[in-house]
Amino acid sequence: MTKLSPADHIETAEIIAIGTELLLGQTLDTNSFYLSRKLSDLGINTFRRQVVGDHRERIYDAICQALEANDLVITTGGLGASQDDITVQVLAEISGKDLVEDSSVTAAIRKLYPDSDRPDFIIPRIPAGAKAFPNKNGTAPASLTTFLYKGKLVHVLVLPGPPSENIPLFEEQVIPYLAQYSSASFIHRYVRMIGIGEYKMEQELKDLIAGQTNPTIAPYASEGEVLLRISQRLEEGDTDKTQALIDIIKERLGEYIYEIGTRSLEQVVAEKLHSQKLTCAFAESCTGGALSARLVSLPDTSKIFKGSIVSYASSVKKDLLGVDPEIIDKYGVVSAECARAMAENCRRLFKADLNLSVTGFAGPGGGTPENPPGTVYFAITVGDKVSVQRKFFSGNRQRIINYAVATALDLLRRSCAE
Ligand code: ATP
Ligand code: MG
Repeated sequence: MTKLSPADHIETAEIIAIGTELLLGQTLDTNSFYLSRKLSDLGINTFRRQVVGDHRERIYDAICQALEANDLVITTGGLGASQDDITVQVLAEISGKDLVEDSSVTAAIRKLYPDSDRPDFIIPRIPAGAKAFPNKNGTAPASLTTFLYKGKLVHVLVLPGPPSENIPLFEEQVIPYLAQYSSASFIHRYVRMIGIGEYKMEQELKDLIAGQTNPTIAPYASEGEVLLRISQRLEEGDTDKTQALIDIIKERLGEYIYEIGTRSLEQVVAEKLHSQKLTCAFAESCTGGALSARLVSLPDTSKIFKGSIVSYASSVKKDLLGVDPEIIDKYGVVSAECARAMAENCRRLFKADLNLSVTGFAGPGGGTPENPPGTVYFAITVGDKVSVQRKFFSGNRQRIINYAVATALDLLRRSCAE
């Protein structure tokens, strides 16, 4: 790819999401969220975003305003063939370009839509001279128009509205193309941990966090999990320093790390189960099915997940799951003994390789002096062995449930071989 002159460097971009449905609160503007992140990865600054309805003058003003202060303007939406899709016409007016058919776009459409030679099929047009990015998932292509606006070289990238079209377009075609315009880029790496609180993690990494410049370390905590983002701004000729930092973090906190990358906890667990050809099953009480729900949010789960009994009431623990009533009478439903019996019966019924139970007080009511609200017992069978754990989580009901689900997933993860 030809290297562009420094005048062509893109330093700042503004995103304009176009669509009246966005302003009416009918559609969430996820495109801007996605694009902001991608621009940051490309080392392009975003200082402002706009949302505007399908209205010619307002789109015109929004683009012009954005061009005053930025090298690149990215619009999403309003590219289709319907009456209210006017983004490209407005851009043609602003840039002074004619709208023309593009041979790469037409060829892609002919391939994707064999009936596209019928007279009422409208072949989309783009501003003359624009770089076209044909759409493999729809008709409207993305395009990048470069022109002089008030004496300054500017770029306008128009993207289709549906995320199923614009994300693949951006990912596969636009990013490699835009990379040549950026003088710096960022490396973002993620270290994901579970079983450690944010406070303890920060204590362990105090010196690294205090001394950070480039790369930088930013901790984010969510319920039960902690994420560290390590970012380095790379200028031309710089080397990647993130791995050296990750190695130090691994040395200190390795036992809590479940992922260096972007996979979620359930993805890591599911991939382990798939690769080791293991199945799991649950007997859930206080999580009410939330544990199963998190696992089945992933595709292909039927190969690794047999099922779950949401044994919320004591009668279901006894009658359906088969927990001995004496155990419940003697120790209560929130007890190590009950958790163990739930996991064993889960194994008896489902015959999975890993059988896990969760029983606890999610609060705010309930609990006993020994087991106040927030107390959760977990048991898991691996082969003939059963292990039981007691945990205490603070916070409101939803938080306790989320912690319990994350802890259960982590137990599954730790029960698989490396
Ligand atoms: P089409 O060819 O489907 O008409 P288009 O480029 O004209 O595509 P729009 O008509 O503006 O796009 O939007 C089509 C659909 O894409 C919307 O109904 C909405 O579901 C989705 N969409 C549009 N803009 C956004 C956005 N900013 N974030 C998330 N989804 C969006
Ligand atoms: Mg449309």
